[in-house]
Amino acid sequence: MDSIPATRRTAIFLRHETLTHDMGSFVFQTRDPAAFVPGQFAMLDLPDVEGDRAYSMANLPNDEGLWEFIIKEQPGGDGSVALFDAFPPGTELALDGPHGEAVLNREAIDRPIVCIGGGAGISQLISILRGAQADPTLNRNPMTLFYGGRRPDDICAPRLLQRAGLADTVACVTAVSEPTADDDWQGPTGLITDVLHRHLATWPDPSNCEYYFCGPTPMTDAVQQVLCRGFAVPESQQHFDSFG
Ligand SMILES: Cc1cc2nc3c(=O)[nH]c(=O)nc-3n(C[C@H](O)[C@H](O)[C@H](O)COP(=O)(O)OP(=O)(O)OC[C@H]3O[C@@H](n4cnc5c(N)ncnc54)[C@H](O)[C@@H]3O)c2cc1C
Repeated sequence: MDSIPATRRTAIFLRHETLTHDMGSFVFQTRDPAAFVPGQFAMLDLPDVEGDRAYSMANLPNDEGLWEFIIKEQPGGDGSVALFDAFPPGTELALDGPHGEAVLNREAIDRPIVCIGGGAGISQLISILRGAQADPTLNRNPMTLFYGGRRPDDICAPRLLQRAGLADTVACVTAVSEPTADDDWQGPTGLITDVLHRHLATWPDPSNCEYYFCGPTPMTDAVQQVLCRGFAVPESQQHFDSFG
């Protein structure tokens, strides 16, 4: 991949859309094109927040300079408070990017695409799936998204696939790890990594897929264990970012 040099430039906040009880889409605009590869992230220097925060782009590169991020509200988090507590449209900030190497592999033309995530990991995965769908050399490959959450109202993946125009092309497997007796949850329960393991065990050749995953470190570690130990997936076919 020819890498796109990261630059720091001014971005203007355009709009916020509520997606779930704790996640939203935030769109910023820069004067120059939004040049990145699906899977990359940018660093935002939020007003009155010490240090930059990394957020993965959820959209595709574009000449209009639009950068969309799906962001999860972390209770008490400085960036979360700044963004989710009435962040006014028109606010200017510094956007530094693109960064990251867990990007869509356009050379894997014969491999099914498997994305795995939870929480805000969906942002990067939606961009990857959008990129694959828009690429004529990749979009005939089967695409599957595994997405897990604690409770049913965390499970935003089917709606976000619909919103991105991906619902007809991407198979979606969801799981909830902590359903209560009051939840009307009919789907699989448990960790998404266990559900992934059970599914891959029924696939003809899980070692010949291209895997993309994103989320907290315990989740990305667990996915790696499943892929390496369970199914001998070469590391070159595993693309991931850990939130730390
Ligand atoms: C490569 C990469 C891509 C990422 N992409 C995304 C993305 O697309 N979307 C997204 O939502 N996130 C993403 N993240 C995570 C994001 O960068 C932030 O780390 C996250 O949003 C939390 O930032 P914050 O400022 O809200 O919380 P922070 O202020 O950084 O705090 C983090 C957590 O620690 C807790 N905390 C803070 N201070 C204390 C304290 N003194 N004592 C105890 N607890 C404390 C907070 O309550 C919060 O839960 C990404 C991270 C990486 C590394």
